[in-house]
Amino acid sequence: MNIFGAVESGGTKFVCMVATGPDNILAETRFPTTDPDETLRKTVDFFVENRQDYPLKALGIGTFGPMDLDPKSPTFGFITTTPKAGWNQTDITGILAAALKIPVAVDTDVNAAALGEHRWGAAQGLDPMIYITIGTGIGAGGIYHGKPMHGLVHPEVGHIRIPHDRNVDPFEGICPYHKDCLEGLASGKALEKRWGQPAKSLPDGHPAWELEADYLALALVNLICALSPKRIVLGGGVMKQDHLLSMVRRRVQHLLNNYIQSPIILHNIQEYIVPPGLKGRSGGLGAIALAIDLFDQSR
Ligand code: ZN
Repeated sequence: MNIFGAVESGGTKFVCMVATGPDNILAETRFPTTDPDETLRKTVDFFVENRQDYPLKALGIGTFGPMDLDPKSPTFGFITTTPKAGWNQTDITGILAAALKIPVAVDTDVNAAALGEHRWGAAQGLDPMIYITIGTGIGAGGIYHGKPMHGLVHPEVGHIRIPHDRNVDPFEGICPYHKDCLEGLASGKALEKRWGQPAKSLPDGHPAWELEADYLALALVNLICALSPKRIVLGGGVMKQDHLLSMVRRRVQHLLNNYIQSPIILHNIQEYIVPPGLKGRSGGLGAIALAIDLFDQSR
């Protein structure tokens, strides 16, 4: 049986995994993201410690970014202009490939999560599909023609612009680049700044949630109209508020106003906008899928 490694590299924590697939996770660890030297050393140590029992065919990385995904670029596989202290221009792919001496596939954390959900989770066989995480930040990945969406760089859905009525919501937004882009208005960090308490401590009936559902629905409507996804998976810490998902669904239907004549949107939206099927492992298992695909292509 072929064994693969995965690294889910996040701004606050790293998850490393050894697996053959979603039903056979052989080893797993997680630790806080500190500086690149220490964090990548711990990553290498985990795979080296497990190498005797679980020799890897390939490694997949799903990482926070922005990152360079152009194979012709001299900085391919680098985390590039991240505001995360110390990580600017970090060659995460090259460092791990050199240390572990195995083939390495890399993509954004959200493209990896999208691939995981498409392969084994809540959007199996549905193409195109989109995975969006609404947590500390907001990001989205997608699968199109069976592959993670790449383009000029990669999708940056967290930074799309949505209508912002300052009479309703005078909060100026927190994005260091755009202030009131989607992430600037609707990320967990934005909720905390606007309301003066962490999102998870805001009670169900708090006006924060109507506003949040409105912003997320506006973003989803833009994506639905632009990309026509067959399913949208919503993950991330903010979506752990169970009531929020049904509010977003209703608001999407209201904003679309019967324009898109698809039965799933009109009558079964609970099957169209869905929570992740792989629970907390969309990204890690997606990175395993990246590694499997790389290995299959090389044979
Ligand atoms: Zn922004």
